Amino acid sequence: MTTTPDRVRLSASGKSNGQWLVDGTEPLNPNEVFKAKENPLAVRDRIEQVYAREGFDSIPHEDLFGRFRWLGLYTQRKQGVGGEHTGKWTDEELSDRYFMLRVRIDGGALTTDQLRVVAGISSEFARDTADISDRQNIQLHWVPIEAVPEIWRRLENAGLMTTMACGDTPRVILGSPVAGIAADEIIDPTPVIRDIVDRYIGDETVANLPRKFKSAITGHPSLDVVHEINDISLVGVVHPELGPGYDLWVGGALSTTPRLAERLGAFVSEADAAEVWYGVVRIFRDYGYRRMRNKARLKFLLAEWGAEKFREVLETEYLGRRLPDGPAPAPARTAGDHVGVHTQKDGRRYVGLAPTVGRTSGTRLAALADLVERAGSRRIRLTPHQKLIVLDVEPDAVDELLAGAESLGLTGTPSPFRRNTMACTGIEFCKLSFVNTKDTARDTIAALEQRLAGVEIDTPITLNVNGCPNSCARIQIADIGLKGQLAKGPDGGNEFAYQVHLGGGLASSDRDEPGLGRTLRGLKVTAVDLPDYVERVVRNFLAERTDGETFSRWAHRAEEESLR
Ligand code: SF4
Repeated sequence: MTTTPDRVRLSASGKSNGQWLVDGTEPLNPNEVFKAKENPLAVRDRIEQVYAREGFDSIPHEDLFGRFRWLGLYTQRKQGVGGEHTGKWTDEELSDRYFMLRVRIDGGALTTDQLRVVAGISSEFARDTADISDRQNIQLHWVPIEAVPEIWRRLENAGLMTTMACGDTPRVILGSPVAGIAADEIIDPTPVIRDIVDRYIGDETVANLPRKFKSAITGHPSLDVVHEINDISLVGVVHPELGPGYDLWVGGALSTTPRLAERLGAFVSEADAAEVWYGVVRIFRDYGYRRMRNKARLKFLLAEWGAEKFREVLETEYLGRRLPDGPAPAPARTAGDHVGVHTQKDGRRYVGLAPTVGRTSGTRLAALADLVERAGSRRIRLTPHQKLIVLDVEPDAVDELLAGAESLGLTGTPSPFRRNTMACTGIEFCKLSFVNTKDTARDTIAALEQRLAGVEIDTPITLNVNGCPNSCARIQIADIGLKGQLAKGPDGGNEFAYQVHLGGGLASSDRDEPGLGRTLRGLKVTAVDLPDYVERVVRNFLAERTDGETFSRWAHRAEEESLR
């Protein structure tokens, strides 16, 4: 049995939401049933001892589509299955006999040795696939079950893992990709991230949460970890008496019911951070709604309780003491994607490079590791914007690094569109997708680079392409957010299309006020028309904006015809 709390209160309303400490721990849906049977992480033994030896057909449904996620494994979409079957066909019908394997890279921090290990696994077992996700993970595809134990052996020897990379668990901890090196850093989050991972990732007490739990920690003033859309965020601030520490945010998440996180007004010292994190996770475990999965994220509990009660419960029931009040973080004044060349506090450089929509390959990652070492560095960081950063570059090695990176499809001087476009996995591999995303985004970037080559775009305009409403690539907080859906083409067949959200953004994206994008009734753009559409809207923005006005501000005040 998984660990359950021993305190059960009576439900005030009599209606059960499946909150363990209110309604009891009786499982209320099939996911809760399989999670209650055993610690889902126990499936690892069966993968190593049975399924990897006996093959894909030996895997029972409940492990394949349930517990495998706890170890970073999802079946990938069967090739050639169109978006018209999404949401209609069963998991079995949509699934291929291969897996997406998510390597969690907490804080996005990798050594060149680790990068080579991931690259080797990609080339040897994953048909050379490697996507940098917008949560600082690397995702491989085409992984056969037979290879999984050897992959884990190699990853774990290198200090990496896939444990709790997916599933109803604390996923990868986002961390500032310039932790410990930026000259203007408020506090280095590296010790806190390490402490949380060492103490709690793989721990049975957090292995059965109502749903996923996302964390983000930064001490950089650019607010570079999209803290407003995580279940918990710790954001670097300086307390007037207590010095540098963290401001605590909870309850952010996007998906189909987006909600931005709220500050609790509490100051968290570095020494207290892991304990506070564990307290918030256990609030979610004990009070989160488990009856319906689409109501199971922490944001729904926060919506019911409000920030004041949430803090009260955290302090009285989980920490046993009050936290000091603390200040809010200052608005970001620089871009949080760290693209380009910057000076570290030790005088060396960090160099932010942009792949196209996070796509790379094992071959290219291996070549990157060599290139990075030739530049005198052994450290790389992935960012929550599908970018990567090479740390510790000697100033006189920067030019050679930049030139070599270009040949690997990585650039330190991307066009505004390449820099600011993200795309989720999409129909190529994701069973929930309706449309292609990566190729659409890549083609759109290429077209816009040509069409707007002579136009000065001096403000970021983010373009986020998603294959379904789940918003892995953050539809609602993009300047131009695209939600994939099918549309009927002129010949009556299905074609890829996108519902458009306009003018979303976070404080961490240099916005005055974070907020969600607006939608226009009936506005849907096909993949083919996307370059035309984006070009038109960008030109309208440039023509109509007032001095210093951001795209998101303009999009919220613009007339509809300027946005269509
Ligand atoms: Fe898959 Fe939808 Fe997430 Fe894209 S947004 S990766 S299509 S679940």
